[in-house]
Amino acid sequence: MEKGNSLNDHLQKISTWANTWQVKFNPENTETIQFSRKRIANPRPSLFMQGIPINEVDEHKHLVTLRRGCSDLNYHKFERHLSNDPSCSCGAPREDTQHYLLVCPNYTVLRNDAEIYKHGYSLKTILYGNSDLSYLDNLAILKSVYLFVIDSRRFDTKCG
Ligand SMILES: [Zn+2]
Repeated sequence: MEKGNSLNDHLQKISTWANTWQVKFNPENTETIQFSRKRIANPRPSLFMQGIPINEVDEHKHLVTLRRGCSDLNYHKFERHLSNDPSCSCGAPREDTQHYLLVCPNYTVLRNDAEIYKHGYSLKTILYGNSDLSYLDNLAILKSVYLFVIDSRRFDTKCG
């Protein structure tokens, strides 16, 4: 089921997510909200959903798992009994969402110019957005988290 309908499934999730964020992507603004950073190996995507290139679906999926604590971070795998070692490759005892996004020295360089870090947003705001912030601020957070996940390469699959 996941296989056969996975594209539509992902599109639906993105729509749901956009609604969750109270973010309405305006197709006319696609040029300005497109996420521009691509893995070199990936061709430019030809499909877009509400302005989000389909290739970003993976990053969206990762963000959902980061929210739920069921990502491939070592602590999450440990919690799910998939691993005996919750520690991070940097030596920290617990590689969880907060560590990955806010603390881990492996990604310090990625935080230098990122919106979510420049403004010191809380983990909750980074993961869910914040209705007290403007549409543009929420959009900047969304984009920033995506780019962080992409650039960290933490969830890149080695095979398949
Ligand atoms: Zn670390």
